[in-house]
Amino acid sequence: MLFPCILSLLLLFLSSCSSSPPLDLSSLPAHHTSDGRFQNTDTLGLLLLDTMHLEEDVANYDNSFYPLPLVRGNEFLWKDSLSSSATWIGQSTFYLRLGNLGVLTDPIFSKRASPISFIGPKRGTPPGRILDSLPPVHLVLISHDHYDHLDKRSIKSIYKKYPDVVFAVPLKVARLLKKWGIAEKQIIEKDWWESAEILGCELTFVPGHHKSNRFIFERNRNKTLWGGWMLVREGKKVWFAGDIAMGDGSFYKEIAARFAPLDLALIPIGSYLPARLTRMHVSPRQSAQLHLLMESKLSIAMHWGTFSLTAERMEDPPNDLKRAREELNIAEDRFRVSGMGEIIEIWRVNNATKLK
Ligand SMILES: [Zn+2]
Repeated sequence: MLFPCILSLLLLFLSSCSSSPPLDLSSLPAHHTSDGRFQNTDTLGLLLLDTMHLEEDVANYDNSFYPLPLVRGNEFLWKDSLSSSATWIGQSTFYLRLGNLGVLTDPIFSKRASPISFIGPKRGTPPGRILDSLPPVHLVLISHDHYDHLDKRSIKSIYKKYPDVVFAVPLKVARLLKKWGIAEKQIIEKDWWESAEILGCELTFVPGHHKSNRFIFERNRNKTLWGGWMLVREGKKVWFAGDIAMGDGSFYKEIAARFAPLDLALIPIGSYLPARLTRMHVSPRQSAQLHLLMESKLSIAMHWGTFSLTAERMEDPPNDLKRAREELNIAEDRFRVSGMGEIIEIWRVNNATKLK
C-alpha cells in the first residue's frame, strides 16, 4: 500500500534529521561502525577461502533437496536428569536438553525461510521434531537475523507455549522480538564478549565472521550483530557457533584461547559451494579444523540438509565432512552428522542439580 510507504519514508527522513549527539568514534569497539552498523574485524589478513570441488563441476550439480528420514528413539533420555542430549531439528535448530534445562538454537519449524509464508526457500525435509513433541523450552539462543535462523512464526509459537522462556539475541535484534510481542524482560541482548548469568548458565556472545540483513534492501545490511553463543553450565562448555565463515581464523583462536577444551560444539557444515560462499560460510574441511582448534570432545554438524540455498548437492556436506575427518584424523564419533530428529546423548553426570 502507498500510504504506509510514504509514512515510513517520512519517518526515515525525520529520524535522519533529528539532532542526535555525534558518536564518539574513539569509544566504539572496532566492530561497531560510525553509522551504527557492524563489521567483521578479522579480515586484516587474507580471508581463508576453501573449496572441496572443482568450480566447473559445481555448475552442473543438482542442488534440489529431498526429505531425510526422521529418526526416532532415545526419548527416555529427555526424562533422565542425569543425561544431557542434543536433537537436530533441521538447519541450525537443535533442542539441547542439559539436565533439566531445555534450550533451542536458532529455531525454525516453518515450511519456508522467508518473511512470506508462501514464497521463498522451502524445506526439503520436515522438522526433525515438532515443538509440541519436545520437553519444555527455557532458553532460546539466536545467532543472527537471517531468515533461516530467526523465524518470526517459530519465535511467536515458542513464546505462546512457554511465556517464561528467555531469548538471548545479538545486539540490536531485541527490537524485532519486541515488535513481535515478546516482553522486554524476557530478552537478553549482548555485544561480542558480553556475558549474562541466566538459568544456571553463564552465557557469552562470541564473535563469528558473517553478516546480517533481515530485508532485501541493501540499506539494512549489517544493522544488527551476528555471532555465536558459549554456554557454560555445571562445568560443561557448549559452543553454538551460529552461521560463520573462517575469516582469517582469529575470532576462533580467541574463542579457543578463552574456552577450549569444549564439551560440545555445534558447527555448520553447509552452504559452501560455489567456493566464493566460503567468505560467509565454513566448508566441511574448515568445520573439521574448528573442531580441532576448539579441542571439542564432541561436535555435531548443522546448517545442511534442510533448505536448498546454495549450489552443493544435499549429500555433499556429510560426504565432504567424512573426507575432512579422514584427512585430519578425527574419529567419526567425535564429529557426528546427526540424523534428522535423532536424540544424541552428549554426556551423563553422576549428580544432577535440579534447575527448577
Ligand atoms: Zn546467515
